[in-house]
Amino acid sequence: MTDPAHSAANNDSEMKIDPTRAKTLNENLSSILTRIASASSPSHPPTRLVAVSKLKPANDILALHAPPHSHLHFGENYQQELLSKSLLLPREIRWHFIGALQTNKCKPLAEQIPNLWCVESVDTVKKADQLEKGRRALCESEEGKGYERVLLRVFVQVNTSGEEGKSGVEPGEAAGLCRHVREQCPRLKLQGVMTIGAIARSRAAGEGAENEDFVKLREVRDGVAGELGIPVQELELSMGMSDDFESAVRCGSNEVRVGSTIFGERPAKKDAQIKEAVQDRKG
Ligand SMILES: *Cc1c(COP(=O)(O)O)cnc(C)c1O
Repeated sequence: MTDPAHSAANNDSEMKIDPTRAKTLNENLSSILTRIASASSPSHPPTRLVAVSKLKPANDILALHAPPHSHLHFGENYQQELLSKSLLLPREIRWHFIGALQTNKCKPLAEQIPNLWCVESVDTVKKADQLEKGRRALCESEEGKGYERVLLRVFVQVNTSGEEGKSGVEPGEAAGLCRHVREQCPRLKLQGVMTIGAIARSRAAGEGAENEDFVKLREVRDGVAGELGIPVQELELSMGMSDDFESAVRCGSNEVRVGSTIFGERPAKKDAQIKEAVQDRKG
């Protein structure tokens, strides 16, 4: 039999935070928050910062979830990795699934992670329906007690750049999928629309031009709101990453997803570690 106190202590020693690393991460986060604030117009509601922690160890997440920032929103791209991290880390964390979604992974994703705050990459009716099923199963389970009234937020991902092979619905199909979520998926809440956009456009925008992908997503959002008869400000825009989040904020983004500028370059997927061993440094 495992003694719970013992296993908690074990877990603790594996999940130590390296103070030097924690300082760097917190400084990086502060700097991003400052840059977001300077790019924001005073009339715009505050922009949410999702710290994209994919392929980075759980220790890093814990370092930002601890004071002074007590950061809550973290983004992950891989279902298995997210599941492992969610089991290791505190329930207060608000997980965002932002990666490519496979239809057959939607139900387990929604069912196994009660504190999954939103799924940002919904681009088919089938995926929405599977998320709905998973969330319903969660709410009917012991694990899901207390979550019955909490809807799983979803963003519809839009392929604004028209690049072949890029995920997301075509701009003209966004309203239909949004309507499906609103009318057929009672456990889901349509939070807004999301795009990644083309790298070349984000480079150009870095030099001062307006990013066409961001302008496009805003148009799609406005069109969806009109077609569905809902106020524009009730549909969020999730756009902007490390290289282009300031131009996204200037374009009205409600949520930016920033990874490498906070956590540094990512390792190859095969080298990623969920728990990083932290050496005790005495003296
Ligand atoms: C990885 C990823 C990000 C973060 O990218 P960075 O350039 O490291 O900031 C944001 N959004 C999505 C969908 C991603 O896959």
